[in-house]
Amino acid sequence: MRRMDKKLKLLTYGCQMNVADSERMAGLLRQIGYTLTDDADDADLILINTCCVRATAEDKVFGQIGRFKALKRLKPSLILGVAGCMAQKEGANLIKRAPHVDFVLGTGQSCEVARVVQSLEEMRNAQCVMRNDSDSTSRSHVVDVSNVSGDIPVEVFPLRGGHVSTFVPIMYGCNNFCTYCIVPYVRGRERSRKPEEIFAEVKQAVAEGFKEITLLGQNVNSYAGGMTFAELLTAVDNIAGVERLRFMTSHPKDLSDELIAAIAGGRHICEHIHLPVQYGSDKILKRMNRVYTVENYLRLVEKIRAAVPHVSLTTDLIVGFPGETDDDLQETLEFLRAVQFDAAFTFIYSKRSGTPAATFPAQVDDETKHRRLDALMKVQNEISLAKNRALVDSTVEVLVEGASKTDDKIFTGRTRSNKLVLFAHGDERAGDLINVKITQAQTWLLKGEVHVLQNF
Ligand code: SF4
Repeated sequence: MRRMDKKLKLLTYGCQMNVADSERMAGLLRQIGYTLTDDADDADLILINTCCVRATAEDKVFGQIGRFKALKRLKPSLILGVAGCMAQKEGANLIKRAPHVDFVLGTGQSCEVARVVQSLEEMRNAQCVMRNDSDSTSRSHVVDVSNVSGDIPVEVFPLRGGHVSTFVPIMYGCNNFCTYCIVPYVRGRERSRKPEEIFAEVKQAVAEGFKEITLLGQNVNSYAGGMTFAELLTAVDNIAGVERLRFMTSHPKDLSDELIAAIAGGRHICEHIHLPVQYGSDKILKRMNRVYTVENYLRLVEKIRAAVPHVSLTTDLIVGFPGETDDDLQETLEFLRAVQFDAAFTFIYSKRSGTPAATFPAQVDDETKHRRLDALMKVQNEISLAKNRALVDSTVEVLVEGASKTDDKIFTGRTRSNKLVLFAHGDERAGDLINVKITQAQTWLLKGEVHVLQNF
């Protein structure tokens, strides 16, 4: 008889898309008797959902896989699986490098996780597993990275983490082929989910008590599931119980006037757009294949701010891209001063084999990359701080998330503009929408006092 009290330790690396994929795989594994545990020692199955966007993310995963080798020796029945982008990229190489891994599932095969785990369980139960840790062709190994644009696992509701905010993927993959990015190679071409599946999942999340929904995709603006993304967003905005609605990520080339109008006219659509620019000089943007210019981007920002006056804009930036000079960096610093982003997530360019940029000449050395990153962060941090200081003495609506990690008397929440707010805890509960008067501003957060508790 199949055991229904098995424990799953799930480790997730990388972006929100991976978080959502992990929740979906946990939903599938729940159907065959797995519940989540925080304790790897207690687990019957350890599943690592991986990222390969930067080399550091891969190093972390290999470190983690190595640490589980001793655990596998102590507990031979333990199943260890690797899924996600790095699994897609490495395939059978992962087994060669770490033969104690039992299965490797690519991004298009995550919907197969329960079937694969069940087949491994059955092999173990029948005691016909030919285990030989030095033999990567052992029959106990499963490697499936066959179809990078495989089926979307829609038939299961995810096992969601958290209580207040959650992600709902609306599309998978990317067609853009930015020259530095490995995503189109490890997540395949764009596939959009059907609107009715998305609506059903949003309603289910609301029924579970979630107040804030973030629609997710590598490039949500090119959603093509039978309606435009703007239409989809408006339809989700009208689902009863959705208190806040967000989306990410948007490619600037696809952010339409229709979408800007939908945000401006939305009821629960938050006034926050994460709009990765990646760089602030035309020369580098062209080399990145971002297919817009600095001027296009600035015009787009003007249009957004005209339609949604209090919008908060955040971005991603990469420094140290091949061919970057100090003059390019200066242009980018000027660009940052011109746009006045609320925040920017800054990254050092990481060479990914298989992408065009990995073979570009004039790769930038590490010391220069770090110097340029510091310069970029210094300018952006000054802007972020000034933007946050402008909010002192104003009252903002905050969705309460719960106690802070370091002090249970302090609660955290987020504004509609996605700024983190800390405040002294009174009667509030996670999921409440409250008014907070901002009293202090820092670069990455605001502090405040609860103003008036509202019944929404
Ligand atoms: S839009 Fe560019 S950076 Fe974003 S996932 Fe696609 S290829 Fe990567």
